[in-house]
Amino acid sequence: MKVIVVGAGIAGLAAAWELTKAGIEVMVLESERRAGGVIVTEPVDGFVVEGGPDGFLAGEAELPELARELGIGDRVVSQRARGTSIWTGNDLETIDEGRAATLLGIDARREDVTAGFKSFAAGMIEPVTVLARQLGGAIRFAQGVAGLTRAGAGWHLAITGGSTHDAGAVVLALPAYRAGRLLEAAGVTHARALEDVLYAATITVSLAYRAEQITSRLDGTGFVVDPGVAGDHAALLQLRACTYTSQKFPGRAPAGHVLVRAFLSFGDGDPGAAAHTQLAAILGIRGEPLWSRTFYWSRGLPRYRAAHRRHVDEVRHRLERLPPLAIAGAGYDGAGVSACVRSGRAAAAEIMKRL
Ligand SMILES: Cc1cc2nc3c(=O)[nH]c(=O)nc-3n(C[C@H](O)[C@H](O)[C@H](O)COP(=O)(O)OP(=O)(O)OC[C@H]3O[C@@H](n4cnc5c(N)ncnc54)[C@H](O)[C@@H]3O)c2cc1C
Repeated sequence: MKVIVVGAGIAGLAAAWELTKAGIEVMVLESERRAGGVIVTEPVDGFVVEGGPDGFLAGEAELPELARELGIGDRVVSQRARGTSIWTGNDLETIDEGRAATLLGIDARREDVTAGFKSFAAGMIEPVTVLARQLGGAIRFAQGVAGLTRAGAGWHLAITGGSTHDAGAVVLALPAYRAGRLLEAAGVTHARALEDVLYAATITVSLAYRAEQITSRLDGTGFVVDPGVAGDHAALLQLRACTYTSQKFPGRAPAGHVLVRAFLSFGDGDPGAAAHTQLAAILGIRGEPLWSRTFYWSRGLPRYRAAHRRHVDEVRHRLERLPPLAIAGAGYDGAGVSACVRSGRAAAAEIMKRL
């Protein structure tokens, strides 16, 4: 019996991998022309640029385990620098890493954050690339699922553009607002509650410099901007945080160069220019960046409201009465990459239990 996984982000790929390992026929339908979802790594002139996540919590085993299974266990790299600062409007002052994470809306236990982060030698896309290769022709790109209906003991999926697919079981590994809409249209009462998950908007701008352009000493992995910074510093409001990328992980910039990544809130003007101007003032940067690369996330990192757990449990409870269908991804059981792998695997296990 064929299982269709909708969405080739890390959660969908992890689910498809689990099912494939168990010998189950899988098809992955992805609306874009690439796998990885918000995981985007671009090599630029010897630099490694991350558009989305740049690492995963070092204390969580999911990614290293998956990497070992995929034969790339030796590609996991540890964070080099430690420590974070806060920009007060006048100075960079050392701040507890747990507090910095909270200010950035990262929902993780303090001890997990203080254990640091890990990544992959060529960036977070590495496990995605290997998973996509292993899954091969099972992934169908440019196949956006527009409708989902029950069909006997299984499901019927309508694709944007008119084609259709039938499946004995489905894993929806989509952002919660997309899954909520599909499930609601399929008659799953309460599914609309999934659209309550708030996906925060952010812009990331990576900027490359020659090392001698930066006149301040870069301490630790970067800084967050104190949310109270205002008034005279109004121009800084768009800058939320900055990661010293080439200091945080090895191999992110050629020798003699520095790669930094700014997190901005949405605003007017060119984010690349805004990021450079704001960082130049804080870090004493001389001259212009060699280049910059901007990624817009109008719906980026999910944040859960108070009733989230109850809503998700309720939807899952209702799904138990339907043909096998599981939900997975950042919108439900944790937003980090490791949590998404965990959730993809759990969704696959749920489907296997019910087949
Ligand atoms: C800027 C940013 C920085 C982050 N930094 C970190 C970090 O450092 N560490 C960390 O652990 N986490 C981080 N995260 C969070 C983490 O990266 C994500 O939560 C996680 O990768 C989401 O994976 P996913 O598979 O659930 O969803 P997604 O990656 O969103 O994948 C969903 C997939 O479904 C596809 N899709 C959508 N609609 C349809 C449809 N109708 N039909 C078919 N396919 C569809 C999409 O194209 C996409 O490929 C970050 C997130 C962002 C945005």
